[in-house]
Amino acid sequence: MIYLPTRVCFGESVLQRAEDHILRLGARPLIVTGRSSARLSGALDELIVVLERADLDWELFDQVEENPSLDTVLTGSKALRESGCDFLIGIGGGSPIDAAKAISLAAANSLGRDELYQTDRFRTALPVAAIPTTAGTGTEVTQYSVLTDPLSGIKAGFGHDLAFPRLAVCDPRHTLSLDPAVTLNTALDALSHLLEGIYSNQRDPLLYPLIHSGAGAILKHLQSVLEQPQDLAGRTELMRASLFGGITIAQTGTTLQHSLGYPLTTSFGLPHGLSNAVVMRQVLELNYPALKGELDALFAALGLNREGFTAWLGELPISVKLELDDSFIEKSVGEVLASRNMANNPIEISAGQIRDIYRGLKG
Ligand code: NAP
Ligand code: FE
Repeated sequence: MIYLPTRVCFGESVLQRAEDHILRLGARPLIVTGRSSARLSGALDELIVVLERADLDWELFDQVEENPSLDTVLTGSKALRESGCDFLIGIGGGSPIDAAKAISLAAANSLGRDELYQTDRFRTALPVAAIPTTAGTGTEVTQYSVLTDPLSGIKAGFGHDLAFPRLAVCDPRHTLSLDPAVTLNTALDALSHLLEGIYSNQRDPLLYPLIHSGAGAILKHLQSVLEQPQDLAGRTELMRASLFGGITIAQTGTTLQHSLGYPLTTSFGLPHGLSNAVVMRQVLELNYPALKGELDALFAALGLNREGFTAWLGELPISVKLELDDSFIEKSVGEVLASRNMANNPIEISAGQIRDIYRGLKG
């Protein structure tokens, strides 16, 4: 089953062409951003031109940090209620866009700190438009928001149909200002989503053409974009791959790979995409016997075999050595086994297998 309620506008300078769709969402937007990327990417200035031309007032909430916290969502929810805004526009990577989704739900349903993951309390939402400035999460077309609780140190997502953005405005020009590290990490998040679309128990062959095409775009263009950051044609392909990854996980959910990555982000500050990437080979090895046909078909579409894919991964500058101790490993094993993604996993995974993967990252 495929459900995709987001209107997607994709292409160079598409923001101007999306104007009517933005204006239909409401009369006064709260623009939700991180500290600098909305400006650096040029997206905020372009949006302001559109809003001023339509004579719309707007408010700015520009306090979203990487891996947004529950507290930031509550602060944003208060700002939204006080502002009188009637829709939201999230500009940025996954962090500000996920925050915009959660702020909308928190304000519309008067949710408190303990209620942000209680999706049975979600009755309504204010419309959200998403303008991605990274090519990785695909959050512009998903029903997920991933938040971190600073009290417990646990990072976890929720999913609800009311969290789908109403509009996604994807202009690859907005990713030209990404530095090589964020370009690499975010592209590997997209690759992770595409692979997990095959791993997931909710896999759907309808998605395989998107998965094959998206993964192919990353294999073909990532290196050249890292060498030439202004390669707009390559950036366009990476943004398309990210969009396809988002469409995929909106249907299939994520799996063990994302569950393993979250503790690496909360405990060691590893960026989200990198935390998936450092366990990508290990998760592939675990899942391969159960999904040989599907994965071999993917590798064939990429013009490779499994060994060729693993060799490609091995050449990426993603190896990390972390100061992992037993208490981190035991706490994380519990979190991984309890995470909701695990229900999507194609095979039963034991605590021992999770321990071994983490031990392999030890410095
Ligand atoms: P991010 O955390 O949004 O941003 C990473 C860094 O890149 C920030 O410093 C940001 O600056 C900067 N940046 C973003 N766009 C830029 C641009 N065009 N030029 C220069 N700098 C730019 O990174 P992300 O990987 O896109 O998002 C990760 C978050 O999304 C994680 O919390 C992850 O769990 C979540 N996620 C959500 C989904 C979903 O479906 N909802 C899926 C996967 C991941 P600023 O701080 O100024 O913004
Ligand atoms: Fe992700």
